[in-house]
Amino acid sequence: MLKTSHGDLETPFFMPIATKGAVKSLTPQEMKETGAQVLLSNTYHLMLRPGVQVIKKAGGLHHFMGWNGPILTDSGGFQVFSLARQRKIKGNGVEFFTETDGGKRHFLTPELALEIQKGLGVDIAMILDVCAPYPCEKEEAKRAVELTTIWARKSLAWLKKNPVFRKKTLVFAIVQGSVHRDLREKSIKELVNFDFDGYALGGLAVGESNKKMYKVLDYAVPLLPEDKPRYLMGIGKPENIIEAVKHGIDMFDCVIPTREARHGRIYIKNENQKSQLMDYQVIRIANQKHREDFSPLDSNCQCYTCRNFSRAYLHHLFKTNEVLVLRLATLHNLKFYLDLMRMIREGLNNGKI
Ligand SMILES: [Zn+2]
Repeated sequence: MLKTSHGDLETPFFMPIATKGAVKSLTPQEMKETGAQVLLSNTYHLMLRPGVQVIKKAGGLHHFMGWNGPILTDSGGFQVFSLARQRKIKGNGVEFFTETDGGKRHFLTPELALEIQKGLGVDIAMILDVCAPYPCEKEEAKRAVELTTIWARKSLAWLKKNPVFRKKTLVFAIVQGSVHRDLREKSIKELVNFDFDGYALGGLAVGESNKKMYKVLDYAVPLLPEDKPRYLMGIGKPENIIEAVKHGIDMFDCVIPTREARHGRIYIKNENQKSQLMDYQVIRIANQKHREDFSPLDSNCQCYTCRNFSRAYLHHLFKTNEVLVLRLATLHNLKFYLDLMRMIREGLNNGKI
């Protein structure tokens, strides 16, 4: 159980993505009904639009988006390194330019990333890290680890000056090191020394194979404190999540259920006699074979979509570009992921995992 200012979270859990303050196409009430415990928003996107001042005036992000459960925000590090143009890493922060505001210059520092998350009023804040691309030269990964540690120290100094925020917010550090064992170990050792509230493994699911990612989990997870939450960022497919839970990971986020839903790719459970865990397939609702299939997406699923609509209807909506299908498919895919997490928690409780 992870205690936050907006409620307790049963681990392991999955955080649906509400990057810009909304889970695409769904209301907070619908999120609650699908079993979501916590949502993930993004510092980078919210600092650009609408800007932290607007959200502060609204009374914080929870009020602004109408969600009263816990919220985690990513620090923006990953987005600066993957989305922004002309970014330049400096010792004290990262300079970047964005197109959404006419090429304006921004300078994100570890202190500012926390200042913004304080303004948003989130429950779990991530400190700013340097995310090395994959693949990259070992020297670049090494530099990312070094700077991530320097920024963690700056973050800690900022936290000391903001005791109220520190008290009500869980602050997590992000481990870097790409797929290099010595660098991961160095990053973990340095960050764990700072005693943050939780630790994330960053810089994974950026193009490396599952085998390489699991290898990192093999040696990295045992080095993270057992009494603090361990978060694998940006992962993943159901099989990746199950494997990571077996390694000791507690927290997940991923765009897969929501993004795949909008492309008509629907996650369906198969009943598997041999295993208590989920065996699944992904169906394409646009496929002609669903045109006259009047069965639900998944007859065992209790989501609103499966209780009320047929595959034939969803197929029709998808073929005619009716926006309703985006909502119905997203609802179902999220229910699939959140049910998976519930089954994993049950499996852990009764010793089946
Ligand atoms: Zn369903």
